[in-house]
Amino acid sequence: MDLAFDRQHIWHPYTSTLTPLTCYPVSHSQGVYLYLEDETALVDGMSSWWSAIHGYNHPELNQAAHDQINKMSHVMFGGITHQPAIDVCKKLLAIAPNNLQHVFLADSGSVAVEVSLKMALQYWHAKGESRSKFLTLRHGYHGDTFAAMSVTDPDNSMHNLYKGFLPQHIFAQSPQGGFWQPWDESDIDDFREKIAQHHSQLAAVILEPIVQGAGGMRIYHPEFLRRVRQLCDEYNLLLILDEIATGFGRTGKLFACEHAEVQPDILCLGKALTGGYMTLSATLTTKKVADTVCGGEAGCFMHGPTFMGNPLACAVASASLDIIASGKWKQQVQQIESFFAKELVKFEAFEQVKQVRYLGAIGVIETHHSVNMEIIQALFVELGVWIRPFGRLIYIMPPYISQPEHLNKLLTAIKSALNTPECFNQ
Ligand SMILES: *Cc1c(COP(=O)(O)O)cnc(C)c1O
Repeated sequence: MDLAFDRQHIWHPYTSTLTPLTCYPVSHSQGVYLYLEDETALVDGMSSWWSAIHGYNHPELNQAAHDQINKMSHVMFGGITHQPAIDVCKKLLAIAPNNLQHVFLADSGSVAVEVSLKMALQYWHAKGESRSKFLTLRHGYHGDTFAAMSVTDPDNSMHNLYKGFLPQHIFAQSPQGGFWQPWDESDIDDFREKIAQHHSQLAAVILEPIVQGAGGMRIYHPEFLRRVRQLCDEYNLLLILDEIATGFGRTGKLFACEHAEVQPDILCLGKALTGGYMTLSATLTTKKVADTVCGGEAGCFMHGPTFMGNPLACAVASASLDIIASGKWKQQVQQIESFFAKELVKFEAFEQVKQVRYLGAIGVIETHHSVNMEIIQALFVELGVWIRPFGRLIYIMPPYISQPEHLNKLLTAIKSALNTPECFNQ
């Protein structure tokens, strides 16, 4: 591959044109393995950012893609419908919290979040109330487009760069108590104060249930989410849950909100929806929200991307939901969680390690010092794994099909990195 061209001309996520870091040329992938151009096999610890849950080059997903592309890869969704969209929406509604009845399909997670925020704004507008603020949590992540970014952690997403343009929302302290720790009632205090103070201006509360992903890989107590739902009910506010990272079994439940037995008014899904094959997202809502939105001045929900409901993506998503419906994920994720509970927690003994956190098929090591990306990435590749840490977080969310041998390989590599001082900025 022409890596020099890549370095000179192609932007990768959050990278600099001045000091481009090494990019590894991947030529194909199979099961839990990514293969470099020189045939080096890497055990994937990232599931391509939460998405490739069933592993790569999956025969059933491949078949669904082939079958659909031979019929129709795309058609506009305005005034037209098709079987793959009907199939995927039926399957989504069958597994989602049962109060959700309407599905809006879009093309990425960030857009699903934009759609959820617009639904909440239109909902209040239709009720004749002007409400334009959202309440969310520190350390959250909801995407890179502007509205999504405006409810993402202000420091992590550098809101100061967009001053005067980015809308200002309200941020409550993120929960401090971990998933496995005893619930501490004071954890909800700041959220309760903020909602009491601002509720008349709020269009909705938006947050990631149980696991805050890219904003810090924090795994919090289900009681916090239960309290949030209660407070939203008390103040008659909509609750938007962003399950783009946590959805489809990653946390050990099909949806993370099930840990707290709460239902959202609006649910955002993406990432693993197509099993990591292509980009597709969905925003689900209740009949009440949908009908209120559509009863307003606009008479409809004001959104409609060109590639909305792309048949190829829907067909693959539908096949992925069939694999999920087989129920195997539950045991697979449980096995990964047991492995983390036994093996990952041992890493707390390392001097470099501040805290170990895990839930379902998510394992997180928070270190004292930030990683040197170039050095740690090279070491991981040398050791035959693909793990991409950020800041002070080395984390893995492997495909559900990962076996103990693969998990061992990932953990052995992390152990080597923790024992290599050069991997960390002192
Ligand atoms: C990744 C992510 C998004 C954004 O999804 P994209 O497909 O990258 O736009 C939004 N919310 C959460 C919780 C995510 O993890």
